[in-house]
Amino acid sequence: MGDKHWKLGIIGWPLGYSLSPRMHEAALAAAGLKGEYREIPVKPEDLERWLQTEAPSMDGFNVTMPHKQEVAAWCSAAGAIDPSAVEMGTVNTVALAGGKAAGHNTDGKGFLGSLERHGIDPKGWEVALLGAGGAARAIALSLARKGVSRLHVWNRHAERGRELAARVNEAVGKTVASVVGEIEALPVAGCRMLVNATPTGMNKHEESPVEIGRLRKGQVVYDIVYEPRETRLIHGARKQGCEVITGDEMLAGQGAAAFEIWTGVPAAKALPAMKQALEMHFAQRERTAKG
Ligand code: NAP
Repeated sequence: MGDKHWKLGIIGWPLGYSLSPRMHEAALAAAGLKGEYREIPVKPEDLERWLQTEAPSMDGFNVTMPHKQEVAAWCSAAGAIDPSAVEMGTVNTVALAGGKAAGHNTDGKGFLGSLERHGIDPKGWEVALLGAGGAARAIALSLARKGVSRLHVWNRHAERGRELAARVNEAVGKTVASVVGEIEALPVAGCRMLVNATPTGMNKHEESPVEIGRLRKGQVVYDIVYEPRETRLIHGARKQGCEVITGDEMLAGQGAAAFEIWTGVPAAKALPAMKQALEMHFAQRERTAKG
């Protein structure tokens, strides 16, 4: 490893708000590795050219909106793809060795790892899930594989929610997931955990996606939105006496899992540096907000 200069990065469009560079550069430094992790803005119309000409010179890269599905297809055709990424239909991490690409999805690992760190085993739990996008799909499949008893899904466009439920039920070979058409029909009170996997809350003036009065003490409320960290949902859930988990925990977990795939440094070793980098970012944000 000695003199190797790790060439890592994240592709997406638009970029400029990603917290990944500070997480990964902190992990490189903590592991005593030389290298860089850059934001690489790639327009959708330039993706194919970038994958063919630029990607092979890298050791690995993360993939964010809107390229996750196209990169999964490219990995399947041009290299290899991990079974977890096939199941999820999207790739968020690509490793390159000798110019050959291997696609992975680390969102599920990031989510489950954060539950473990809270001492939570969701086996047998009823869970309410908001959203049916890429992140929701990774979370739903991970929870189903962990043995949740029921997964109640609500999505703005119900058809996409039904597709997610069908995919989950097929993956585990039984009916675990079902869909409600209206958010009011979600049986929140009967669930041990509620997960928000929609972007609702990213705008700090946005209302909580579910009425706070529907939450009860002791429930676990997980909001995967990480900016702001304290969303209205998290703020309200704290007040109700719920156990809260904020989106930066999944962010650090999926990042550490990607770092392990690229460098071989165990995720558990990379995680503290990544979490510390995020803490520094949020502390800075708070100072700026206070003026
Ligand atoms: P995605 O694939 O584009 O899916 C977006 C999901 O949010 C869909 O279910 C969509 O519903 C729903 N949605 C979008 N706008 C909405 C609105 N105004 N009201 C209600 N629902 C809305 O995106 P994704 O990758 O799953 O990401 C979803 C969120 O999770 C983003 O905020 C992202 O930053 C965050 N995320 C966090 C982590 C982490 O590590 N913490 C990891 C991945 C993603 P429709 O199907 O009806 O459009």
